[in-house]
Amino acid sequence: MSKSLQAIRGMNDILPEQTPLWRYFEGTVARLLDNYGYKQIRMPIVEFTELFKRSIGEVTDIVEKEMYTFEDRNGDSLTLRPEGTAACVRAVLEHGITGGGQVQKLWYIGPMFRHERPQKGRYRQFHQIGLEVFNLDGPDIDAELITMTWRLWGELDIRDAVKLELNSLGTSESRGRYREALVEYLSAHHDKLDEDSQRRLKTNPLRVLDTKNADTQAVLVDAPKMADYLDDESRAHFEGLKARLDAVGIPYVLNPKLVRGLDYYSKTVFEWVTDKLGAQGTVCAGGRYDGLVEQMGGKPTTGVGFAMGIERLVLMLETLEQIPEEISRQVDVYLCAFGEEAELAGLALAERVRDQLPNLRLQVNAGAGSFKSQFKKADKSGALYALILGDDEMAQQVVGFKPLRGQGEQQSIAWDALAAHLATCVVQG
Ligand code: ATP
Ligand code: MG
Repeated sequence: MSKSLQAIRGMNDILPEQTPLWRYFEGTVARLLDNYGYKQIRMPIVEFTELFKRSIGEVTDIVEKEMYTFEDRNGDSLTLRPEGTAACVRAVLEHGITGGGQVQKLWYIGPMFRHERPQKGRYRQFHQIGLEVFNLDGPDIDAELITMTWRLWGELDIRDAVKLELNSLGTSESRGRYREALVEYLSAHHDKLDEDSQRRLKTNPLRVLDTKNADTQAVLVDAPKMADYLDDESRAHFEGLKARLDAVGIPYVLNPKLVRGLDYYSKTVFEWVTDKLGAQGTVCAGGRYDGLVEQMGGKPTTGVGFAMGIERLVLMLETLEQIPEEISRQVDVYLCAFGEEAELAGLALAERVRDQLPNLRLQVNAGAGSFKSQFKKADKSGALYALILGDDEMAQQVVGFKPLRGQGEQQSIAWDALAAHLATCVVQG
């Protein structure tokens, strides 16, 4: 196929054989969020470029080199959203729904766009489920977010494969003091830093902490520690969070080098990481951003949130083979009809059954076909039962009811009794 007719590198089709697992994952998360009292918000995929520059920060990887930015026909600079927090904050401000201290517990789902090097677990269009809470500043809500994700891992049966890393970045004042100390220390060791870190030292020095370069890591061993610069309030907040995680029994490790890529975090930051996916190990990440709303022109409004990468979590379910068997079966019953008269009767019968059993997954054969070919399709559909309408069944006003997965002989069921019979033998979710 010519290149122009292929998908863009790093932007993937999610094929019909993959969507059951996606829908299982998304459905599980959505149900959980509903149950904890969170409400969904939907924002546009495109925003003014300025929004992301202002919120994410000019000297972050995302803004420096990962955004899909283009000019609209009227000359406006627009950007495909690289993450959800900025647009969510923009939306709550624009509609005034966090004003006067109103609490909002929101979540969103959808595609994000970053021009990164595509590889396993890292794509240019990827999908996140994200969550933001406004106007709750205590550690209790930070703990709730983490507890909720912990429950999710439990429901997906992947708890053993993930680890919680935790840090506190303090307030912007204490972070400022720490930044100064760090810059002073690193500047004294400037020659031993890798090139990237030398650059970051000038633009975004905290990012040097999460370098992958071994020489720079060696320099960092004796660097000042963030924990020593925490203000009392942040320290108490962090202790409050840890106490709650302990109370629920959620294990965590403190990672003083966890700073997150974005500028806007303060106090709590956390990541759920796994060693099952190779280099792309972070499946869910977030933290508190008490200064962001004000920085974007709103009244002081605290915020905390996280986002998880759907591709990475789906990949993890596949890798760990944690795929519930029932999700790949999408048909309960397959109706085969032979001859035009039977086809018409079958159609009417199927609709009557659907009226009575709205959750039944009933597929009616399309495209006619011989006895053999329709049975083959019935079997391939994954259905548990085939319904058969041939000349004999038409004459007696019955339908043949044939189990396709093992046990049981074919029986004849009167048309009027079909829905009641199906209700007893097909378990519906
Ligand atoms: P990473 O360090 O892996 O680049 P990040 O810190 O840039 O992640 P966030 O902006 O915090 O990621 O996004 C939250 C989550 O979204 C990540 O933990 C990850 O699961 C997912 N994610 C981020 N970028 C990508 C991508 N390019 N492809 C697939 N998933 C991604
Ligand atoms: Mg990144």
